[in-house]
Parts: sequence; structure tokens; C-alpha cells
Amino acid sequence: MDQIVSLCKRRGFVFQSGEIYGGIQGAYDFGPLGVELKNNLKAAWWRSLVHERDDIEGLDASILTHREVLRHSGHEETFTDPLVDCRACKSRFRADHIEDGICPNCGSTELTPPRPFNLMFKTNMGPVEDASSFAYLRPETAQGIFTNFKNVLDSTSRRLPFGIAQIGKAFRNEVTPRNFIFRVREFEQMELEYFVAKGTDEDWHQQWLDLRLDWWRAQGLDRDHLTVLDVPKSDLSHYSKRTFDILYRFPHGDEELEGIANRTDFDLGSHSKRNTDLELDAHVRANTKSNAQLRVRIEAENKWAVPYVIEPSMGVERGVLAILVESLDSEDLGNGNSRTVLRLKPHLAPIKVAVLPLKRNHEGIMQTARTLRRELMATGVGRIFLEDTGNIGKGYRRHDEVGTPLVITVDFETIEGDGSVTLRDRDTMAQKRYAKDDVAEVVRDYYRSG
Ligand code: ATP
Repeated sequence: MDQIVSLCKRRGFVFQSGEIYGGIQGAYDFGPLGVELKNNLKAAWWRSLVHERDDIEGLDASILTHREVLRHSGHEETFTDPLVDCRACKSRFRADHIEDGICPNCGSTELTPPRPFNLMFKTNMGPVEDASSFAYLRPETAQGIFTNFKNVLDSTSRRLPFGIAQIGKAFRNEVTPRNFIFRVREFEQMELEYFVAKGTDEDWHQQWLDLRLDWWRAQGLDRDHLTVLDVPKSDLSHYSKRTFDILYRFPHGDEELEGIANRTDFDLGSHSKRNTDLELDAHVRANTKSNAQLRVRIEAENKWAVPYVIEPSMGVERGVLAILVESLDSEDLGNGNSRTVLRLKPHLAPIKVAVLPLKRNHEGIMQTARTLRRELMATGVGRIFLEDTGNIGKGYRRHDEVGTPLVITVDFETIEGDGSVTLRDRDTMAQKRYAKDDVAEVVRDYYRSG
């Protein structure tokens, strides 16, 4: 993990938030390369769900959340972690992070009994701080999907099965944020709520698990580094009938990367007005103040029903961390030399092509390099980086370390000779010359084939 943290800071992927004032715990800022990587991961998720399928709609709901939403969703009552205080050093821990009743900070056994601690951040809207201005920062994006269920249904005329996908910030006042960006207090989630008819839910649950495992493999994670945990009943969230956790082999252990829960009709049922003939499962809470009936018409049975929902839910930061861990490689080049290389899948790489002029401040070379950069930009593959440092060896090393798949060198042969450039491949280190007029097509083909 130390190697990842240091690379992230040195190369501009991730910084501690508020670092110049000593840092704020559990919050991180994504730097120039980090934001590209994160955006690419989010785009890959959105593309695979919203663009490539024809049964999923997108949504972007607000972060500020009405208190009633999180009361009826059950979060006010149950979204807690068991908190333990050390009487000796005054540190606080999650009870399930303590081993053998010993304080991880000072080793004392003088610990308080666990008590529930609600993880939701509270705030006030408007100038007056009273009960009527009270709001929450959402602890999951999912509730915005449930509360907009009818809006989306009415505006798109969807029928079951269909899904609503959303990417956005979520906030949890974690007792002990730790392991770099793995457990933080402010993070982004990518959540899909996939609505299905009751009775088909178990089959869909399995299908979504398989699809999500395939997606992670397409992002470059080795299947052997992923395990599936069928979460024991005693550990299930209050809304879940069954949850599969996809665990990734992080440096600190096999830990949750994504959860895929069968949330049944719990949420839509809990937010639905009660004076209906809806059949709801017994654990759905009643007495909502909502006026909505979050249900669908089942024509074949001539009745209304609250759908069941399967929820694949992942944290973007955990995704970024897993991908960095998986991609970071140190390759022995022989003769005591080695190189650090980030073997990111091309579609995730922050910089798609770096254009390096052989000689610094050389107007002829720079002019050709600028033209080439414009042509490469026009391919639409992503960020093209022109760097006038004049040290090709160092440039290769730097771009290996940040995962740039292709580096093009413009030299004297390009401007005075046969007009060719050198294209170097990150993974094989092979260098091949192409006519400068052909290289944009070569780059386009490279990214098209993934
Ligand atoms: P954990 O058990 O690790 O606290 P969780 O089971 O509470 O996680 P979920 O409520 O299932 O997590 O949230 C869905 C996803 O959101 C998780 O799989 C994870 O990727 C991400 N996530 C949850 N909490 C955090 C956090 N504090 N920091 C970063 N990502 C998070």
C-alpha cells in the first residue's frame, strides 16, 4: 500500500484533502491523473449499463436528502456501526475492528461496551437551524433512485425488468477511516437498482453477480484476486434478503469492492402510500408520509405490484484502488535495471498518447509535434499529452509509471527525413516507426480494439 500511496502523491493521482492545514481525515482529492482515471472508470461503468443495454435509464439525484426519506428507508434507525471507546487513550473504534478486546492504538483492555453510532452526516438548509431546516447528506445514492421511481417510470413508460443507474457522492461518518482511499467519509458510488418481478429476483441476483464479475475482469482485475462472499444472514443490511459481496485482494486483505444485494420490495414499499391493495413483504415498514404509490402494473395478472430490486453497488474510490493495486508492476530489465509500470487497461489510462519531441525548444520539431497532437486529439480517444522536456528516456519511464499505453517521439527524421515518427508500446516496450500521416489511424485502431 505504501508504494501505491507514494506513487499517487508523486505522480498526481490522489492527495490528502486539506493537506496544507494538516489534512482532514477520511477525505481525499483526486489530482490531474487521478481525476482522469476516475472519470474513465465511471465512463466504463455508465457505458456498459446505460448506453450498451436498452433496459437501463440514468439519473442524477440531489445529495441533500429529506429527512423523511432516510427515516422511512430505515437508515435513521439502523444505519449504525457499533462504537467502542478506549478509556485509556480515548481513541474510538468500530467494535468489529477490534481483536481480542485490545485497543489497537495503545494496547489497553479498558474498552467501553459497544454502542450504536449513526453514520449519517447531518446539515441544515437555509439560514435558520431548526428541525424544519434539517437535512441529511445521502449515505447511499440508492434512495434518490427509489424516490424518483415514479418520475422515471412515468417519463419513460418502462416495463419490468428495467433498471435505473446513478453515479454520485455519498457520505458516511466512518468511525475509523483507513487504508488510504478504501474507507473514507466522502466517496462516490455507482449504483444500479434493477427492478424485477417478485419470484424472478433470485435468478436476476445470480445474473447480476456474473455480469459484475465479468465487468471487473474487463477493467483488468484478475479473477483469482476476486472472491464472492455470500453474506451471512446475521450480517445482512436491514433491507436485504441476500447479498453477495465481491471481495478484492487489497494489500490489507480480501475486502469488499462491490455489494450486490437483493433489496426485495423493501424500499419502494416503505416509501409507498399505504391505502392500497399492495401485497408487501412483512418486513416492509408502514405509515409513510409519502403520497406516492411506487408500483407497476402487471397486465397479465391484472394487478398492481411493488417490484423487487437487485442492487449492484460499488464505491469508485475502492475501484480506483483495486485497479491501481492490480496494475502496478515492477519489471526486471536485467543488468540490475528495472522499471515501474502501471499496466492499466488502455480505456482506463489517464493519458492515451504522450507526444515527446526529441529535442527541447526546437521550433521545427515542436511545430510538427503540435500538429500531430491536434490530429491525435481529433481521433477522440482521450487525453493527448505534449511534453517539451527533450529527454526521451526519462519520458518513457515517467509514462510507464502513470500507465500511458503509447508514446510517440518526433525527431529529426520526422522533420528532415522520411517524415516518420517512433511509436513505443508501454507493455512490450517495442518501438516501431510509422509515417506521421498514418499514426493517428494506428492510434485509433489501438483504442478501438481495447
Ligand atoms: P463496509 O462493510 O466496507 O463498510 P458496506 O457494506 O457498508 O461496506 P455498502 O453499504 O454495501 O458498503 O456500500 C456499497 C459500496 O460502497 C461498497 O461495496 C463500497 O465499494 C462502497 N463504500 C461503502 N462505504 C465506503 C467508504 N466508507 N469508503 C469508500 N467506499 C465505500
